[in-house]
Amino acid sequence: MDNYEKITELGRRRGFMWPAFELYGGAAGFYDYGPLGATLKRRIEDTWRQFFVIQEGFAEIEAPTIGVEGIFQASGHLSGFSDPLTGCKECKEVYRADHLIKHIIEVPDALSNEEIYKVIQENEVACPECGGELSEVYEFNLMFKTMIGPGNKTQGYLRPETAQGMFINFPRLLRYFRDSLPFAAVQIGKSYRNEISPRQGVIRLREFTQAEAEIFIDPRDKTHPKFDQVKDISMKFYSQAAQEKGEPEEMTFGEAVGRGIVAHQTLAYYVARTYQFLLAVGVSPERLRFRQHKSDEMAHYAADCWDAEVLLDHLGWIEIVGVADRTDYDLKAHAAQSKVSLTVFVHYDQPVKRKKLVVKPDMKALGPRFKGQAKTVAEALKAMSVEDLKGDKIIVQVGGEPVEIDPSLVSYETVVEEIRGEEIVPHVIEPSFGIDRIVYTVMDHSFYEDVVDGEPRSVLKFNSKVAPVDVAILPLMDRDVLVKPSKAVLDGLRSRGIRVDYDTSGSIGRRYRRNDEVGTPYCVTIDYETLEQGTVTIRDRDSMKQVKLDAQRLIGVLEELLAGDRKFLDAGVPVVALAAKEQ
Ligand code: AMP
Repeated sequence: MDNYEKITELGRRRGFMWPAFELYGGAAGFYDYGPLGATLKRRIEDTWRQFFVIQEGFAEIEAPTIGVEGIFQASGHLSGFSDPLTGCKECKEVYRADHLIKHIIEVPDALSNEEIYKVIQENEVACPECGGELSEVYEFNLMFKTMIGPGNKTQGYLRPETAQGMFINFPRLLRYFRDSLPFAAVQIGKSYRNEISPRQGVIRLREFTQAEAEIFIDPRDKTHPKFDQVKDISMKFYSQAAQEKGEPEEMTFGEAVGRGIVAHQTLAYYVARTYQFLLAVGVSPERLRFRQHKSDEMAHYAADCWDAEVLLDHLGWIEIVGVADRTDYDLKAHAAQSKVSLTVFVHYDQPVKRKKLVVKPDMKALGPRFKGQAKTVAEALKAMSVEDLKGDKIIVQVGGEPVEIDPSLVSYETVVEEIRGEEIVPHVIEPSFGIDRIVYTVMDHSFYEDVVDGEPRSVLKFNSKVAPVDVAILPLMDRDVLVKPSKAVLDGLRSRGIRVDYDTSGSIGRRYRRNDEVGTPYCVTIDYETLEQGTVTIRDRDSMKQVKLDAQRLIGVLEELLAGDRKFLDAGVPVVALAAKEQ
């Protein structure tokens, strides 16, 4: 069994995740999160909120998961959101054609369907199931369709990404943010894609969770005020040039922007925040790289795009986050489709003075000729551009009637006008996170096995920010005298908001193993000394160190430990020689 199989098996057995609809035979691409998996996922989402909603000040919104047709016409999903499909002529199984040639061409996204089919033929790629011949490659749209209301009148689609919810709410969000840039909105929610052959657990689902931020910025200035805070962080950049050499390059964010490897500070800042977030939830920096999209892979409108990729056992390098500068593409597309202007009036720091040629109607001549209507005629003339007035005759509309005016009645003058700002279409920086993939990555990167006193032990080394259970309360024996004080400790911890599990079944050693396997950072043992001396024992998952302390101090010490302060454990005298006593 490789780690992928071990984690999948552990996930099912211990209540993290398993294929959905088991009772009815299942359907590929849908997963249930069990009690531990749902909590792990929620805690990862909450850490994301901490980073982006609280620390960056982005506004969290919630839009419907079903969208109307216009949205996806504008976004391009209706015409272009498809994957290349091929099928086996023998067993009729269908496949993502680009996935079947990944071992031949590293980034097949840039190939046309004809080119993919050519690679299949030239390399004699056959059906992975039965070895049969594969069909020509054709496009399959990944959106789920549905009908809104009775009567089949209105076509709806399950959203394939959460991003559109932010774009189409741009006017209201702009007002909420008092009409000024930059601002950002986020959603954490379900997206739906009718994936062709989802076979990799929660890595490729037909219903999955995304956390996306759309950051609207002024395109004239892509520096970031907080860039200094991240510029010295060092990370592996797998830039376009590095990909040519096949080796990511370690450098600081300051250097990456200085050398023009990342397009600008704002994009680099959010790549850095993404990096910090991924490390915070437990992604291993050794198995993480940021890969820049190659020019033929990048969307035509994108200015630059970086994917966070992780190395997973069995699956190889997998994209878990994409961070892109999408320029003004989305807002312009929605403005064109909806006929609503999606711009922001930006004020210049200093008003700009500009000379302008304006029309100067000759009132002395217009007055006698047009009498009561002379003022209206003059206004109509002023509203016309200088170019329109340059012809042989000038026609203005007065009260709906065309009126001809002799050009000699119009002269021009130069005035100086003050321009305070202009209407612009903001650019959008979009970090897009696949939460399910991150959940699985955190499990994969936290998983290890060792042998303690001749017994195998599996561990999920979750950090206390995401662990589904913070503390397990373990009475040494299932006897009333111990159960009672244990329950009191349990209630005390729960009332402080600590996630506690309570377990009395099996030997204490077995219970430690069970908790190691689901990633519980700390166990608290209640024994006869608790009754006699008022002490309890904290056992640390990672070092397996056990330290005794006065029960009165337990809550305070656990709160410190869960906040990442390990002073107590480092200073505390172990009560037993580590694992030797874990039987
Ligand atoms: P995309 O819009 O394709 O760039 O997707 C954004 C993020 O969503 C990716 O980085 C993935 O982490 C995640 N994602 C995309 N498709 C799926 C899927 N079918 N199942 C699970 N996660 C996905």
